[in-house]
Order: sequence, then structure tokens, then C-alpha cells
Amino acid sequence: MANKVDTCTTCNKSLVEKGYVRFPCPVCGNELGRCISCRQQSNPYKCPKCGFSGA
Ligand SMILES: [Zn+2]
Ligand SMILES: [Zn+2]
Repeated sequence: MANKVDTCTTCNKSLVEKGYVRFPCPVCGNELGRCISCRQQSNPYKCPKCGFSGA
């Protein structure tokens, strides 16, 4: 079983505050995490596996 991502892919903060999301990379399916502040600010994320970036 794959490990659940527990940090924000963008800022590396622990996903503890309510409102974070986990979602699969649209390219490789690697799980990505995004904290609430990165979501609110639409900070770009980058998949550490395949290098795909989105916002
Ligand atoms: Zn973040
Ligand atoms: Zn990826």
C-alpha cells in the first residue's frame, strides 16, 4: 500500500489544518497534498515524481 501523503506538496507543511486536499497527480497518479493556505492562494504545486506542475 502506498503511503498517504501527509505534507503539502507546495510548502511542505504538515496536513493537519482542516481544509487540505489530497489528490492524484493527473500525469502519474502519485498522491499529492495541498494545505488550505496553498489552496486559497492557488499556489502552484509540482509532482515530485514526474515533475508535472499545476495550480
Ligand atoms: Zn501548502
Ligand atoms: Zn506526477
